[in-house]
Amino acid sequence: MFGAICAKRAGADVLLLEHTSRIGKKLLATGNGKCNLTNLTIGRGDYRGNHPSFVTPVFEQFTQKQTLGLFEEMGLVWKERNGMVYPYSNQASTVSDLLRAELERLQTKVLTEVRVKEILPVFSTNSERRTKGDYIKKGFLLKTSKGDYTADCVILSCGSRAAPKTGSDGSGYKLAEKLGHSIVEPLPALVQLKAEGNYFKMIAGVRSDCRLHLYIEEKLLAEEYGEVQFTDYGISGIPVFQFSRFAVKALWEKKRVFVLCDFLPEMEAEALYEYLYKKKQRLLSTGNSEDLLLGLLNKKLNLMILKEGGIPVQSKAAGISEKQLKSICRLMKNWKIPLKGYQSFEQGQICQGGVDTKELTKQLESKIHKGLYFAGEIIDIDGRCGGYNLQWAWTSAYVAAVSAALEQ
Ligand SMILES: Cc1cc2nc3c(=O)[nH]c(=O)nc-3n(C[C@H](O)[C@H](O)[C@H](O)COP(=O)(O)OP(=O)(O)OC[C@H]3O[C@@H](n4cnc5c(N)ncnc54)[C@H](O)[C@@H]3O)c2cc1C
Repeated sequence: MFGAICAKRAGADVLLLEHTSRIGKKLLATGNGKCNLTNLTIGRGDYRGNHPSFVTPVFEQFTQKQTLGLFEEMGLVWKERNGMVYPYSNQASTVSDLLRAELERLQTKVLTEVRVKEILPVFSTNSERRTKGDYIKKGFLLKTSKGDYTADCVILSCGSRAAPKTGSDGSGYKLAEKLGHSIVEPLPALVQLKAEGNYFKMIAGVRSDCRLHLYIEEKLLAEEYGEVQFTDYGISGIPVFQFSRFAVKALWEKKRVFVLCDFLPEMEAEALYEYLYKKKQRLLSTGNSEDLLLGLLNKKLNLMILKEGGIPVQSKAAGISEKQLKSICRLMKNWKIPLKGYQSFEQGQICQGGVDTKELTKQLESKIHKGLYFAGEIIDIDGRCGGYNLQWAWTSAYVAAVSAALEQ
């Protein structure tokens, strides 16, 4: 939608093909229905992929400031929270409605319920050939569920395999592959992780501010802080989403992956030990082990820690040994969560993987077929949670669209 608008504004004759009944379906689901459309602080490390530095020259051509400028021209009033930008209305539909209105204002041809099945490069016929073997590329033939279309340039922006109910069913990868492009294995990202262990049913539903360290084959790979959501199968929440792409990739590669969870990042291990020691002294005559932890974490987490430490809940606090106190400290500061899997494409917000960036120019044009462009999530670039993925979609769409329009 954004690319069609930019190409139209740059003077191209544009046709937008969409196979569902409505354009912009995924936008409605973004940001919990509020659409976190960009982030004012984009830096190194916010984008991942086999070649993450690929995004730098692309962003130099169209920044988040320019994106917001374009949305403002369409009439968007926005607000910002910790760098994350939302429509002032708090409604994701505001963004998709504005894009639709702009497409209409520009009289852009939009066809829904048209599935693109194949894209064929078209070459000059024998009679048009200048010399023997000199075939001239003439554009593309698009084979669709509703007949054939021709185009000088094509921007392939079919999304990924994430949230396929919104239309992104992975067919874009197949279209790209048939055109000779390599696809880096698409896997879920910004996704919940499944853990080993018997304690998850016990703590399902608990949310707690934790510091998480992700280890792959014993090597520390990422660190995140924020509200972790414990579920009956494992861990979820923003900090988990942020490093999930690394965990998923490693699990897919059959590597050993675990997370160390610090339930009390604000409290040093020594301070925690002192707290527990003093508390135990207070409870010498009365109180059990559960009372010892009362006041620290969510009750379910306290119970889980006791069980993990092999300390019976009803045992007298006075009987807890120094070794057991140290074990409680270790579990609270460094609870080891071995990971065994991840949720599916249906649950993942985005995909990692996609069209190999080595085969694209910084204008997002295919190095294999002149006039073929890519934009958005179909490319092997995935962003952190916080507006970065939509910003990649806007930026890549703008760059591809303007280059394609100039080529026409
Ligand atoms: C629940 C959820 C919440 C999210 N929240 C945010 C957020 O707040 N901020 C953020 O930055 N990102 C968010 N994202 C990610 C963001 O929505 C995507 O990265 C972005 O929409 C990708 O844009 P795209 O145009 O590449 O693909 P899509 O938005 O998936 O659009 C691709 C379109 O192509 C159509 N299509 C596919 N194949 C064909 C075909 N063969 N023929 C015709 N049409 C086809 C699809 O139907 C679809 O309409 C969220 C994603 C989800 C699932």
